Amino acid sequence: MIGMMAFLAPIFAVAIAVVTYFGIKSFVKWRKKQIQKALGEGMCANCGTKIVENKCPICNTTKEV
Ligand SMILES: [Zn+2]
Repeated sequence: MIGMMAFLAPIFAVAIAVVTYFGIKSFVKWRKKQIQKALGEGMCANCGTKIVENKCPICNTTKEV
């Protein structure tokens, strides 16, 4: 049982590392997409929050184009 644990521990460590790696990778990809979207739609003039679907999610006002 202890021998089994010693064998499984590095597998778990590798699995966690792989999950973390792909997690960060997909997060960076998602973040880039969000930034591109923000740059494409601009920022709210009142609070500086990125405009989502031509609207500020905080002020909830339509961006005047
Ligand atoms: Zn706003």
